[in-house]
Amino acid sequence: MAPSLDPLLRPRTIAVIGATSRKESLGGKITARLFDAGFTGRVYLVNPKQESVRSTRCYKSVLDVPEKIDLALIIVPLAGVLQAVAECLKHGAKAICIITAGFGEIGAEGKALQEKLAAMCREAGARLLGPNCMGAVNNSPAVALDSTFSPSPTLSGPLGFASQSGSLGCAVINLCEERGIGFSQFVSIGNKVDVNENDLLEAWENDDEVPVITLYLESFADADQFLEIARRITPKKPIVLVKAGKTAAGAKAASSHTGALSAGDTGAEALCRQAGIIRADSIGEMLDAALILSRCPLPEGRRVAVLTNAGGPGILAADALAENGLELPPLAEETRSRLRAILRPDASLANPVDMVASAGPQQFRQCLEILLDDPNIDTVMTITVTPPLFCGVYETILEMLPAFRAAKKTAIAVAMAAEEFYGRARTIEGLPPVFHQPEDAAKALARVVAYAERRRLPQRTVRTIAQDDAAIAKLLAKQSARGGGYLPADDTFRVLEAAGLRVAPWALVDTPQDAVREARRIGYPVVLKANGEAIVHKSDIGGVALNIKDDAALEQAIATMRAKLAAAGHAPDTWNLFLQAFRPGGREVIIGSSRDDSYGPLVMFGLGGTFVEVLKDVKFGLTPTAREDAEEMVRSIRAIKILTGARGQAGVDLDPAIEAIEIVARLVREHSSIVELDVNPLLLYPEKGKAIAVDARIRVK
Ligand code: ADP
Ligand code: MG
Repeated sequence: MAPSLDPLLRPRTIAVIGATSRKESLGGKITARLFDAGFTGRVYLVNPKQESVRSTRCYKSVLDVPEKIDLALIIVPLAGVLQAVAECLKHGAKAICIITAGFGEIGAEGKALQEKLAAMCREAGARLLGPNCMGAVNNSPAVALDSTFSPSPTLSGPLGFASQSGSLGCAVINLCEERGIGFSQFVSIGNKVDVNENDLLEAWENDDEVPVITLYLESFADADQFLEIARRITPKKPIVLVKAGKTAAGAKAASSHTGALSAGDTGAEALCRQAGIIRADSIGEMLDAALILSRCPLPEGRRVAVLTNAGGPGILAADALAENGLELPPLAEETRSRLRAILRPDASLANPVDMVASAGPQQFRQCLEILLDDPNIDTVMTITVTPPLFCGVYETILEMLPAFRAAKKTAIAVAMAAEEFYGRARTIEGLPPVFHQPEDAAKALARVVAYAERRRLPQRTVRTIAQDDAAIAKLLAKQSARGGGYLPADDTFRVLEAAGLRVAPWALVDTPQDAVREARRIGYPVVLKANGEAIVHKSDIGGVALNIKDDAALEQAIATMRAKLAAAGHAPDTWNLFLQAFRPGGREVIIGSSRDDSYGPLVMFGLGGTFVEVLKDVKFGLTPTAREDAEEMVRSIRAIKILTGARGQAGVDLDPAIEAIEIVARLVREHSSIVELDVNPLLLYPEKGKAIAVDARIRVK
């Protein structure tokens, strides 16, 4: 196990290598921040060229510092970093934080240097944060550490935040201020040669000072490990992630940015889905979701009541809530009569409740309390607009405060007010989540509701699937020994059978005589397929003949296929005859697998058959894959209704598809020589237990 992060996050002694009184330099800013934050431990400044900085003595070298240090902050120019780190380690530093940039994000030379530094730290049993990072903040009163060069202090609050981008860190601090939310810990991980997001997840897993985890990532240090840790955490506390590099362009920018290679978005999407992570599209949206998560109980369901004093914003809210999959049910009769008793006759008691512009702060509070009592409602959203004559937004929020604080349900506020309001409101103790616009509130609420729903479900676990690994390994090794490539049809089906997949009875033969014998054994009707190394899409070249009913038809089909394949340029000695039981009437799906540099072996599910490439209606999943993960993949394809039944067609049994995904996931995870696998199609039927695989390809390295 790697040494603890305590010396980094809860140091008692810090040395600042490169401290300076030049206010505009990084060293100057960090030194100032460290002092201003009121660090509860001891700080030692190191700079051979200065006597003192901020009335504090400067040491010529860290080796002169009179006690052992927990954390060394390295801010010296690139050329001096190696020596600085070496000296700090020699002096017993348990954590090193390298703020200096110019490493892996620049090129190969910088990459080699950062790896050398990581190795030095590892050997010394010290942790390394960065390089190319912005430092760390721990707002716990017991620590009060701020080693960043942010121009303003970070607000204290409930969030743990790990950021792969340092400069973004500064912007985040501003976005937090706008919302009145803050951090308990903030760690800029930079090039993450040692300390990465996984370390922080583990550090925060059981830290009560971090009830909500937020992350900005451009790549995953180890996606496998991330999935495992996040799966464990999300049933206990929420993780909200912004993963940049979604698009090809974004991925390219991200990779040149921190030197990390990011792969498309399918992997990240699957990772969040399977780990129960809340995915946000921007830092602002991440903080919006975090605001609700940290200030309200989790919503019990999707039903929202909207309370407003203006029609327009109420309609906007209703649209936004519905668009995000939330519901605005009618209010209970008792709720309506209680509201009627206090509101003007022209008020609307539907949902949204429009109290009309004459409503004052007291009515807002009373109505909020009444709506919170409604058994049909899980969340109440108040929308306060400044009507010039009647009441101020600030006064209204203040009046409602006791009701918000006492709420046993999720209660959020939208304040369509001037920026000045937010400046005043932020300082209010026990403020509910307050949003500028109903759309932002609806989006954030929808994310929280989805998380809450997931958290109520039993925890997902990957079940053990028995497969004949010895037999499978032998078959795969045979092809690898030939230099890799696609397995022949017979071995392909043998592998799938050994893995536990149901495949249609088959035989591989060379002559028409053998074909007739085997077809009788399998039982007519049969299917004839051409099997050859150079034949990829069999039906395209006349290499598939379906529904062959007897010996004579089979001999005829063989002759026809030989003619067609010869015409397509396949010499008779380059392919042989693959016979298979004919299973008509199934719905075709594809189960696939490929390998990704960042995410490892992936599984894929989609509607199969000829149109799979055109429709691209597929879902990817990460391995290992739990049954629920597989089921979610199946149920989230766009055309799911084609499988569950539409327009008078009966639905098919989906269980075999779900199980096939689990089987393939287990297979490709265990056998790393498989680089690509396709079962296309797996045929699904309304009848239970009838599903069967009729075509497949496996490519090994
Ligand atoms: P390829 O994909 O190489 O063209 P397939 O073996 O997938 O060849 O066959 C093409 C199509 O023929 C399948 O998508 C399926 O519709 C149908 N088919 C193939 N084998 C069977 C079978 N055993 N029973 C029923 N239909 C089949
Ligand atoms: Mg096929």
